[in-house]
Amino acid sequence: MSETAIGQRVWGIGRLWGKVAAVAVIGLMVLVFFTARSYFESLELQRAQSRVTLYRSTLLSALERYQHLPFVLAHDPFVLRAAQGFGRQQLNARLASFASEADLDAIYLMDRTGLTVAASNYDRDLTFLNQNYGFRPYFRAALAGERGQFFGIGATTSRPGYFIAEPVRNTDGAIVGVVALKLDLSGLERAWSDGGETVFVSNRDGIVLLSSEPSIRYRALDALSADQRRAIQARKQFGQEALAPLDWKRLGPDQVRLNGVSHLHVTAPIQGSDWVLHFLSPERDVLTRAWLVVIGAAILAIVISAAGLYLRIRRVRESLAESQAARRKLQAANIDLAREIEERREAERRLEKAQTELARTSKLAALGQLAASVTHELGQPISAMKNYLAAAELDAVPGEHSETFSRLSSVVGRMERLTQQLRFFARPSGAGVDGGANGAVGLKPVDMKPVDLKDVWHEAFALIEPDLDGAGIKLDAQLSDAPVMVQGDRLRLEQVVVNLCRNAVLAMQSAPRRKLTVRVEDADDLAQLSIRDTGPGLGGLTIEALQEPFVTTRASGEGMGLGLAISAEIVKEHDGRLTARDIPEQDGGGAEFTVTLPLKTEGPSRP
Ligand code: ADP
Repeated sequence: MSETAIGQRVWGIGRLWGKVAAVAVIGLMVLVFFTARSYFESLELQRAQSRVTLYRSTLLSALERYQHLPFVLAHDPFVLRAAQGFGRQQLNARLASFASEADLDAIYLMDRTGLTVAASNYDRDLTFLNQNYGFRPYFRAALAGERGQFFGIGATTSRPGYFIAEPVRNTDGAIVGVVALKLDLSGLERAWSDGGETVFVSNRDGIVLLSSEPSIRYRALDALSADQRRAIQARKQFGQEALAPLDWKRLGPDQVRLNGVSHLHVTAPIQGSDWVLHFLSPERDVLTRAWLVVIGAAILAIVISAAGLYLRIRRVRESLAESQAARRKLQAANIDLAREIEERREAERRLEKAQTELARTSKLAALGQLAASVTHELGQPISAMKNYLAAAELDAVPGEHSETFSRLSSVVGRMERLTQQLRFFARPSGAGVDGGANGAVGLKPVDMKPVDLKDVWHEAFALIEPDLDGAGIKLDAQLSDAPVMVQGDRLRLEQVVVNLCRNAVLAMQSAPRRKLTVRVEDADDLAQLSIRDTGPGLGGLTIEALQEPFVTTRASGEGMGLGLAISAEIVKEHDGRLTARDIPEQDGGGAEFTVTLPLKTEGPSRP
């Protein structure tokens, strides 16, 4: 599998996990929401239960406070007398003082027909006096010998109230009238509405009698049937109120919707009546709290995952730093290793060079011994031959054998040159040829002095100019304007230049284009002298191969392969370097030999 494919797969898996985690988090939040909601709902229901109990007790205490007053009044002799038609005027005043003392709306006495014969509000405009309440259920109940209780809107005053009635019996036990009181519950309602909670009381018909919310008072929880409406009308219970149905719907055992808003709903029956107390708590509060819990949980989840992410990033960073440190260590170790390898290679190269040098030195040493004995053995005969030849020339008749003499002297000259070349090697290091002045083959110490390479060239040129002319070679000398000073042995440096030039001349013997380019210049503390020809080139041979003694391509007798060996030795004595290269065909072809020497700067000359 390719790296990109692996990357894509990992990315795909990562995204899948991301989706799974998102779904899991959403699922968890939904669970948290519903759990919190049911928890807060049960809490709220508990609270509602305790509130409804409290409201019921306040209502009961308000109702029960006067429960026994009608009974007591029914046994009052003044009431009894008035019921029997005596002292009704006095009773009016008496009832008025009772009512004001007990803070009651009204206390009144009715005869058996329901006609009010005495009333506490006898002196008010809307007095009950002479009004007939025979239609009221509380009157009928009392007339039947029971205690009558009833909530209704006053038929005379149009003000709501709670009526309690008791039969008034004469000494025989016969009912001669009914005494009743009207209790004003508006104070209680005001207290409820000041509490800011929704609480109300409904009767058997589902009509709201008392409520903390005035807007729902005298409204029906369920639509009223025609019979119900007729009966209510007969009792004149709610005056002109339309008793319109409320926007009320039961959603569950503990839930209702009132005017489009969901509420938790708790009820409690009021003992001794057909009333039910309702307490409503908006579900919105529960939902708000549940949402707050969800938000809290979400914030907690975010904080936890952020902390997790932070820790993970820190771990990744740490391991990254560790791996980077390990990488750096490895890199350092690699660099050390590479340096060590390079050092070893360098040592190997040095060893190889030293071995080559050793081989070359021993070769040169052997060559030196051979050269010493050959030059020694041949030196004498060659001198003798030269002398005999000179003597024979002197003795000869002019013009006779002159060609033979010149050939002989040329051959002897060549033999002498060859022995001279060999003599170079027949000396200890640091000594040079001196033409036989020192020992058998003549050794001369190297004479190091400041030398201008341009002078070296001029001297060498003087020696090879005839060769150049003879071979028809064009010269191109590119010499630096300023002197190019080196510390060296002028004669020996000349020998090098002559060797290189001779080689060039020989190489160009059969070349179609013959040009010798000489350059003398300085650059970067180095002096350079290069000889370039237009011959056949070196055929890829290196200077190391060419400077080996006796390496030659020339015909036997034309060269011994010692020229470059000698030149290389001399350049080495001068702490310099001899290099050679083939000139590419497109640049004219041929070979170029370069002598590079340390530039002689101002200062004391080398001893
Ligand atoms: P010799 O000239 O006696 O042969 P050298 O040591 O001077 O010995 O040269 C060695 C060989 O290097 C020559 O035989 C020749 O093959 C090659 N050589 C030297 N100089 C040149 C040159 N300028 N062009 C081509 N070959 C050269």
